[in-house]
Amino acid sequence: MKFPIFMDNHSTTPMDPRVLEAMLPYFIEKFGNAASRNHQFGWEAEEAVEAARAQIAKLVHCDAKELVFTSGATESDNLALRGVVEMYKDKGNHVITCMTEHRAVLDTCKALEKRGIAVTSLPVEKDGRVKPEEVRNAITDKTILISVMLANNEIGTIHPIAEIGKIAKEKGILFHCDATQGVGKIPVDVNQLGVDLMSFTAHKIYGPKGVGALYVRKKGPRVRLVPMIDGGGHERGMRSGTLPVPLIVGFGKACELCDQEMPAESKRIAAMRDRLQAQIMGALDECYLNGHPTERLPHNLNISFAYVEGEALLMGVKEIALSSGSACTSATLEPSYVLRALGVGSDLAHSSIRFGLGRFTTDEEVDYTAKRMVAAVTRLREMSPLYEMAKEGIDLKSVQWAAH
Ligand SMILES: *Cc1c(COP(=O)(O)O)cnc(C)c1O
Repeated sequence: MKFPIFMDNHSTTPMDPRVLEAMLPYFIEKFGNAASRNHQFGWEAEEAVEAARAQIAKLVHCDAKELVFTSGATESDNLALRGVVEMYKDKGNHVITCMTEHRAVLDTCKALEKRGIAVTSLPVEKDGRVKPEEVRNAITDKTILISVMLANNEIGTIHPIAEIGKIAKEKGILFHCDATQGVGKIPVDVNQLGVDLMSFTAHKIYGPKGVGALYVRKKGPRVRLVPMIDGGGHERGMRSGTLPVPLIVGFGKACELCDQEMPAESKRIAAMRDRLQAQIMGALDECYLNGHPTERLPHNLNISFAYVEGEALLMGVKEIALSSGSACTSATLEPSYVLRALGVGSDLAHSSIRFGLGRFTTDEEVDYTAKRMVAAVTRLREMSPLYEMAKEGIDLKSVQWAAH
C-alpha cells in the first residue's frame, strides 16, 4: 500500500495515465490553434477538438454541437445561470434552485439576487432529495430557470432529475442541471433527464483540471445564452477564447474511458463502498449514514460519528485523505450547509466524514481505512465524557450544565 491513501475523489480525481498519454502529443508536436483555418497545425488541432467533443457527447447522449467548452463546472454553472437570466430577462426574473447545490450555483444565485433576480431555494427531504412537487409549487409566471444538481458532492444523493425535467418541460421553463458528480459515474442522458443545460468537468472523472463543458440544448427548445466572455466568437459565440486543445483531448479520452468502463467500474466501486460502510458501522455504535441509502452515487459514503469531532478524527488518521463536514471559514468552523439542510443537528454535522472512493481505490485501502476509522473513533470516544455519560444511560438533554 502507498501512503497517503486518497479517499477524497469528490474533490478531484487523479488523472488516468491513459488520459495523459492521449494529451501529450498536443503540447509540443501538435500545438496548433484549433481556430487557425489556414494550415495543417490548425486543422490537426481542430480535428482533435472535434474528436474529443464527439467522445464527450457520446457519454451524455447529446449532439456534439450542443457542447460549449469552459474552464470547468464553476464556469459552466455561471454561464448557464447568468447567460439565461440575461437572455430571458424580458420573460421573467425568477430562478428556482435548491439549498444543497454546489457553491458555484448558490453563490451565482446570490450575485443575481443583488441584481434584482428573485431566487427560491428549495428545501430537501431528510435523505437529501428535493421533492418534484416542491419544484412545481414554486413555479410562478415569472420563473425563467430551474437549477437542480444531479448528485450532491457531499452526501452523494441523486435527485429525481427526470421528474423535475418533466415539470419544467410541461411549464415551458428552462432546466439547468449541475451534473458534475454524476457524469462518468452513473448513466447520464440529457434527453432522458429532460435537461436544457448541463454542467460537468474533466477533473472529477480522471481527466485534467481546467476544462469543463456546458451542454446547451439546440432543439426543443433551442436555448440561447448571453456570453460572459466576448472575443473571437469561439464555441458558437457562447464562450470566446483559444481552446485548450490538450485539456480538451484529455477530457474526451476521460469520457471515452468512463463510457467503456462504467458498468463494471461502478459495480466494483459500490461493492467496495458497501464493504467500507459495513466494516465501520458493524464495529461502532452511534454512527449515522447521511444522505439517501440507495439513491446515492456508487463511490460516496458519508457518516456522522456521534461524540466525535470530524476535524479531530481527521487529525487522527492523517495518512488517509478524507473530508469532514466542517468547512473552515476564516475563524470559525461552520458545519456543512448541506447536512444542515437535511436537518442534521450541528453536533452530528460536525462529526461527519465524507469518503470518496474512485477508480484507483483498492480493497486493501478500503480495509485499512475501515480499521483505522474504527480505532480512531474508539480512541476519541474513550476520551469523551459525553460518550461515557451517554453509555451510562444519562440523558444528556436533561443535564443541567453549569453556567460559565
Ligand atoms: C467540483 C464541483 C464543481 C466545480 O467544478 P470545477 O471544475 O472545479 O469548477 C461544481 N459542482 C459540483 C457539484 C462539483 O462537485
